[in-house]
Amino acid sequence: MLVLGIETSCDDTGVALYDHDTGLRAHALFSQISHAIYGGVVPELASRDHIQKLLPLIDTLLHDAQVTPTDLDAIAYTAGPGLAGALLVGATLARALAFALAIPALGIHHLEGHLLAPRLETHAPDFPFLALLVSGGHTLLADVRALGRYEILGESRDDAAGEAFDKSAQVLGLGYPGGPAISAAATEGRDIGLRLPRPLLDRPGLEFSFSGLKTALLLASQEQPLDDQRRCDLARALQEAIVDTLAVKCRRALIETGHERLVIAGGVGANQKLRERLTDEVRALGATLYYPRPAFCTDNGAMIAYAGCLRLAAGQTDDGGFGVRPRWPLSELSPP
Ligand code: ATP
Ligand code: FE
Repeated sequence: MLVLGIETSCDDTGVALYDHDTGLRAHALFSQISHAIYGGVVPELASRDHIQKLLPLIDTLLHDAQVTPTDLDAIAYTAGPGLAGALLVGATLARALAFALAIPALGIHHLEGHLLAPRLETHAPDFPFLALLVSGGHTLLADVRALGRYEILGESRDDAAGEAFDKSAQVLGLGYPGGPAISAAATEGRDIGLRLPRPLLDRPGLEFSFSGLKTALLLASQEQPLDDQRRCDLARALQEAIVDTLAVKCRRALIETGHERLVIAGGVGANQKLRERLTDEVRALGATLYYPRPAFCTDNGAMIAYAGCLRLAAGQTDDGGFGVRPRWPLSELSPP
């Protein structure tokens, strides 16, 4: 059973081939860099880039993997959540191709893709597990019991962790995307005794809030002239605050749920300091940490092909629906 996966929810065009018996066959990604000068993703530009890049990317993927379209058993595409125009490009192409090939097309939830991505690796978590999903648009802790069975234990009331990295990088003039820029700058940062807020850590519960942190960083950045060293020092303080906040909530959630497996998913999961800190936290609790390679933390086609393949194998059929869901709560998802 061979599934082509298509991801176009934001500014990355991702495609992949997942084989039910042999695993991931191939994947390719085109990352749009045209947004960098605007400091964030421009939706209309993203849609246009997907239109230009998607079909050639699929052609190359199939050619390199020596697969012909008639070898495909299904096409999985990201149906939401994400940017409406960007989602529509992937959905339209997936549906048209599937119709022409007379095979099913399955609309996949982008966050289900992120949650399942660690299972693409050889060190893969079995169900059930606790997942920290930290991406550009979401920050949540989920109890992942099985395919399609996700209970949100806590999420951000405002900004996502990735957003805090991105907006703070903009304040510091470090470019976009902010996460990799902040973590690179932080390696040159000194401990200047600045303790940025760790929001909601003083209260019980598993909710997050990152908007105040961004404001605190803005105020700190205005206290002194912002030279290169100061930028690095502030980047370090910001990364420490985010990592600390996420780690404390993960520890709390592991203790409350009794889960023995913790999964980090989403773009912020590529952060080395976060991985190191969570490795220590889980070790202290006798649990095990799982995460995907950095390329599968951020958006990619492999996670969509994989989620589609699992759903197809579990009996899900094409619902024939053409719509995309720019807003689609994870809690509305059900097993196949
Ligand atoms: P969502 O999945 O919620 O719709 P998204 O798809 O835009 O949002 P991802 O692609 O999963 O998000 O992740 C992108 C985010 O990850 C950006 O905010 C980026 O700054 C952040 N990020 C990427 N690499 C790192 C890193 N090394 N450290 C911290 N953050 C990172
Ligand atoms: Fe994403």
